[in-house]
Amino acid sequence: MDTQKLSASEKTQLTHELLNQAYKRLTLGSRRSPMHELISTMLSHRTNHADETTAYNTMLERFGDWEGVMLADECELAQAIKTTRYPEQKAPQIQQTLRMIKAARGEINIDFLADLSIEEAMDWLTRLPGVGLKTATLLLLFNFKKPVLPVDTHVFRVSQRVGLIGAKVTAAKAHAILLDMLPPDALELFNFHKHLFWHGQRVCTFYSPKCDECVLNGLCNYYQDVRQKGIDRAA
Ligand code: SF4
Repeated sequence: MDTQKLSASEKTQLTHELLNQAYKRLTLGSRRSPMHELISTMLSHRTNHADETTAYNTMLERFGDWEGVMLADECELAQAIKTTRYPEQKAPQIQQTLRMIKAARGEINIDFLADLSIEEAMDWLTRLPGVGLKTATLLLLFNFKKPVLPVDTHVFRVSQRVGLIGAKVTAAKAHAILLDMLPPDALELFNFHKHLFWHGQRVCTFYSPKCDECVLNGLCNYYQDVRQKGIDRAA
């Protein structure tokens, strides 16, 4: 098969198949409650997983529950989450988010999102401060099993290098473009997301992608370009 002649949609499906073989398939069972996922994802911005977890645990140990976090002194909350990047920005965003949820629902709980359509749930979530497309899609896929596709930095980089999306496509637009080329099935989207995420972390890294050992190198635009340039230089 001449993989360079494949359409973006065919490449996306082939990428999904190859990564399904390269990485273990996962089942879709949420690891944490929706509120936990929401606030953890806000804390995780530009922060590694260990530091995000430390901040989350410290915050709840210090203030007890979401009500306590919401009513805490803002500086003390920033201090509790200081292992994350930008704690002074995240503290007021978290408190404002908790206040908005309480005002809208009478309690600090977002389980009701399960009953909304994807559009309604996305609209509701992205009105919260500090909640963008990535956080909203993560929450809707991981916790509510809705067929959306979170596009983080790894998913975006690998998709662009392979050629599933164009070089000028923004991360915000990549979400809809990729979603359109994949089956509208939460489990498939979850595995596609996780596999691209792992691939970006372990193989297609930002500075030195390990192209020679990559299962996608036969269809990857970036690899073909680099290899072509290497051949040209050698000639
Ligand atoms: S061939 Fe290289 S650039 Fe392409 S996906 Fe694999 S590691 Fe990334």
